[in-house]
Amino acid sequence: IVVLGIETSCDETAASLVRRNPDGSGDILSNVVLSQLDEHAPFGGVVPEIAARAHVEALDGIISQALARAETTFDDVDAIAATSGPGLIGGLIVGLMTGKAIAAATGKPLYAVNHLEGHALTARLTDGIRDPYLLLLVSGGHTQLLVVAGVGDYRRLATTIDDALGEAFDKTAKLLGLPYPGGPEVERRAASGNPLRFDLPRPMRGEERLDFSFSGLKTAVRQQAAKHAPLSEEDVADLCASFQKAVTDTLEERLSRGLERFRADFPEIDTPALVVAGGVAANRAIRTALASLTDRHGFRLIAAPIELCTDNAAMIAWAGAERLALGLPAVTDDVAPRSRWPLDESAEVRIGSGR
Ligand code: ATP
Ligand code: MG
Ligand code: FE
Repeated sequence: IVVLGIETSCDETAASLVRRNPDGSGDILSNVVLSQLDEHAPFGGVVPEIAARAHVEALDGIISQALARAETTFDDVDAIAATSGPGLIGGLIVGLMTGKAIAAATGKPLYAVNHLEGHALTARLTDGIRDPYLLLLVSGGHTQLLVVAGVGDYRRLATTIDDALGEAFDKTAKLLGLPYPGGPEVERRAASGNPLRFDLPRPMRGEERLDFSFSGLKTAVRQQAAKHAPLSEEDVADLCASFQKAVTDTLEERLSRGLERFRADFPEIDTPALVVAGGVAANRAIRTALASLTDRHGFRLIAAPIELCTDNAAMIAWAGAERLALGLPAVTDDVAPRSRWPLDESAEVRIGSGR
């Protein structure tokens, strides 16, 4: 099965061709990502109108490039998969309409994919894992702990009660005067900082429920920054390192409960996997902390290659391929994009009769 994936939910215009083999393994034939970073950077964040226009201008060319790099044409494609939510509505409309147009012109089925499902199923593509796994999804808009029991079977164990983790990185960077996107910049500064200099909170520590919270941590950084203003380079590095340390400590504490819960729910799995996905999964300190955490608990850690952690269309194509392989129905022409779309509702995508 070969699927063309289209991703336009935020500030990356992306297209990819992915093959799903009869044994369930997958190959990425091409993976083209155009980041709009330069266009949004002057505004310190993503501007929805600029994003939508940039998707309109770029998408056709990106799809042609993806087809060319995979040495395929629409004739070789078995299905189209387009992100239809959650995300910025303007971009979603562009991607989904383009998917519909290609489907109509070629007579191929169209899958409307939940962006979070793309992040969630990437491990099945990169690792070939088939057992249920625990998924930590940490991105710009989401921070969730889910059980991925199979394609379309997602059970949410925890979510953030305020900021997403990527958002906390971005806001912390902004208040320290660092450029957008903040995550990579905070990580870079933290490398030369002292993680023990500032005493920052570990939100939710000891709470029975598994949820996350990050806005208090960001506020604590703001207070420390105000107290020490004007900040030297060293102050900024120390604040970044202390923030990142608070984040990794918090993830370890929250997740050790999650791992225990998963172990109790799936005793038949010998060495269960924790999968980390989403843009924040690119952070090396977080990867290292999760590696030692999973080690201690007898889990293995699956972290996708960094270019598959951040937004891409290979994960969307793969989610479509998994659905097609299961014989799940494609969507009909009247499918609409959804700016909000929780992953544990994604069974809704099955509504509609296939073509
Ligand atoms: P969502 O997937 O929830 O819709 P999104 O698609 O915007 O949101 P991603 O593109 O998956 O999110 O991830 C972007 C986020 O990842 C940003 O908040 C960015 O700061 C963060 N990020 C990227 N690299 C790093 C890093 N090395 N350390 C920490 N955070 C990072
Ligand atoms: Mg993004
Ligand atoms: Fe994403």
